[in-house]
Order: sequence, then C-alpha cells, then structure tokens
Amino acid sequence: MATNRTFTMIKPDGVENGHIGAILEKITASGFRIVAMKLTQMTKADAEAFYAVHNERPFFGELVEFMTRGPIVAAILEKENAVADFRTLIGATNPADAAEGTIRALYATSVGENAVHGSDSDENAAIEGAFHFAGREMF
Ligand code: UDP
Repeated sequence: MATNRTFTMIKPDGVENGHIGAILEKITASGFRIVAMKLTQMTKADAEAFYAVHNERPFFGELVEFMTRGPIVAAILEKENAVADFRTLIGATNPADAAEGTIRALYATSVGENAVHGSDSDENAAIEGAFHFAGREMF
C-alpha cells in the first residue's frame, strides 16, 4: 500500500449510535478518498490480533469485548499525508482531550468507546488495511 493511505474503522459505538453517515461525510469533506470500505464484524481472535500491541494493557479485555460486540465500518482512505491528517481529523484518544470539531469530540463517548480508529503510522496503515481487505477490494 502506498504511504498516502490510512486505515480506519467506525467502531461499534459509532455504528450503534447512528453516526456512520455523519462520520463518512466528515471524512470525505476533509479530502479523503475511499479506496476500500465494508460493514463487517470482528471475531475475538480478529480483535486480539488487531490490537496485539496492547495485550499487556489493563484495558485489553474490555477493548476486545467492545470491538467485537457489533458491526464496524472498515475503510482504507487516500490523501496526501493521510496518516497524520486523519489523526488530526479524529482527535485525541480520550474525547475529553479531543480538539473541538474532531470526530472523537463530536461522536465519542469515552476513552474506550471513541467512535473511530485511525492508523498511527504508514507501516501500520498497510498492515491494518491488509488485515481487513484483499487486494481486489482496494480501488
Ligand atoms: N483504549 C482504552 N483505554 C485506554 C486507552 C485506549 O480502552 O486507556 C482503547 C481505545 O478504544 C483506543 C484503543 O484502545 O482507541 C487503542 O489505543 P491507542 O492508545 O492506540 O489509541 P488510538 O491510537 O486509537 O488513539
């Protein structure tokens, strides 16, 4: 995957709370092109693998439980400087610290249930995109 791509998920809380449309509107209005997208649900094994970097953290069990409780929207997004610009668009992990107007400030409810995921590096964007999508699903 080229380095102008990032990977995102609208997490189960964002889907449950009816924010898919508003979040996608904000993403596309901010200049990101949708390269791949689907509604899917992670299994426990999927979530444990996806968040393996956090498996020693006290919130790991809760995170896996949360991420598997309902469908998510997974997507690959393209834009110059995609990873950094998308992190700016979503805001801080904890919505209490997220800048005004960011997706997490608008739609997240807590540090755990924070509406969206955004890759934190080009390397992870490629790994995470490939975790959810086959090459033929990327356009
Ligand atoms: N998380 C949590 N409690 C914490 C920190 C993180 O439940 O104290 C969850 C939250 O859903 C977060 C995810 O774990 O988005 C991954 O954490 P990370 O620090 O990588 O934050 P992100 O990159 O998503 O902002």
